[in-house]
Amino acid sequence: NVSVVLFTSDLRLHDHPPLRAALDGSYAVVPLFVRDRGVDAAGFAAPNRLAFLSESLRDLDAGLRERGGRLVVRTGDVVEEVCRVVAEAEAGTVHMAAGVSAYAQRREERLRAALEGGPCRLQVHDAVITALPPGAVTPASSDHFAVFTPYFRRWSQERLRDVMAAPRTIRVPGTVGSEPLPCRRGLSGVAERLAAGGETEGRKRLMAWLRDGITAYEERHDDLAGDATSRLSPHLHFGTLSPVEVVHRARRAGGPGAEAFVRQLAWRDFHHQVLAARPAAAQADYRPRHDRWRSGSGARADIEAWREGRTGYPLVDAAMRQLRHEGWMHNRGRLLTASFLTKTLYVDWRVGARHFLDLLVDGDIANNQLNWQWVAGTGTDTRPNRVLNPLTQARRYDPDGAYVRRWVPELAGLGGPAVHQPWKLPGPDRVACAAYPDPIVGLSDGLARFRRARGHV
Ligand code: FAD
Repeated sequence: NVSVVLFTSDLRLHDHPPLRAALDGSYAVVPLFVRDRGVDAAGFAAPNRLAFLSESLRDLDAGLRERGGRLVVRTGDVVEEVCRVVAEAEAGTVHMAAGVSAYAQRREERLRAALEGGPCRLQVHDAVITALPPGAVTPASSDHFAVFTPYFRRWSQERLRDVMAAPRTIRVPGTVGSEPLPCRRGLSGVAERLAAGGETEGRKRLMAWLRDGITAYEERHDDLAGDATSRLSPHLHFGTLSPVEVVHRARRAGGPGAEAFVRQLAWRDFHHQVLAARPAAAQADYRPRHDRWRSGSGARADIEAWREGRTGYPLVDAAMRQLRHEGWMHNRGRLLTASFLTKTLYVDWRVGARHFLDLLVDGDIANNQLNWQWVAGTGTDTRPNRVLNPLTQARRYDPDGAYVRRWVPELAGLGGPAVHQPWKLPGPDRVACAAYPDPIVGLSDGLARFRRARGHV
């Protein structure tokens, strides 16, 4: 008997429960990835993620070939393609991991309906996109946790399943054909310094992180210039690394750095369990604050300046430019730029979330939309009206200005923390960096507008 394994956000061979179940119960297995036209139609096919995806699929195929198999790639409607492959392979079971977003939940329902009554059954395994599957822990009075701290307490007490080894061999039936694998070269609009994709690369990065980075994570994770975070987020997004394995290995490393790092992984699980229970929160306010976000030409000009990294606040602009050049931004930068857009400029969080999704290689419905909502105060933050001040953030997280000098070439000639307030420079120094704009808004004006809007004057 033959099984199909549908890969989605789990592009790996290590620790893959649906693949393991298929191999245990079948003579042959079709590892299938469908380039789903529905995902493109939803505006989710950003060049940076397509590039990372292409490399990840090639690496998955290479790993399967080393084991005697290969990856089958198809393009089209995911449900139609799965049914076609099931017929070609005369498969008896389709294995896949549960999804979290509304789109993934619907995909599963459609697939179930399409296979119903036929000879092939669908086996949906627990979600593998998170360490703890969404819904595995719930508070007494709700289907999900709305506050992180109690969630984390419960999350920490749960025993995670054991990590599964990668298979040694795999047999793929010859009757099923594949399209050529997609290629990163030839894609336009890819960030010039985009990280490399694939499980092999992800595992290398994880091992290097556990060896060299994790110990100092607690003290250094907010140091913008130090760049001392793991950068594992795209691998967790595409599932080229298993979150269960990452948590187990980090816990084994031990120490305060590992504890702080594991806590961040729990944040990831937290947002996924909110989205799984409230899929509409990808677009609608999780906790409506009845904001009347700015619109019109003034807002449009501000949004453009924010996107381009020309707000006149060097730390905000440095982070926005890092995003464009790398397809990635430091978490501290994400917090600050999102606060600046939604609170200082009082622009709808959906505008910022869309821009991030267009560029982030780790861009993710659960983490992106719900972090945006958290910052905007429409989500799960218990202090929804806090506003981050770019100058205070600069003093704390880029005290010497090195991060700004790295990303804002107009200011690269300025020494020390003066780089954070170029508008205060004496005449000749200001002239030397005249290509850099003045602030588009005064911080106190922005703050007053936000407080008025939220009724906190
Ligand atoms: P590390 O600091 O090394 O953390 C380890 C892992 O923990 C990360 O890889 C990530 O998977 C997880 N993590 C860390 N912080 C968070 C967090 N606040 N929420 C959820 N998971 C977290 N993360 C995404 O993966 N995709 C997104 O689209 C995304 N959008 C964001 C938008 C905004 C406005 C904000 C404030 C944060 C967003 N984050 C997102 C969370 C976080 O910024 C990134 O996960 C982190 O910067 C990735 O870098 P890293 O792998 O070096 O993180």
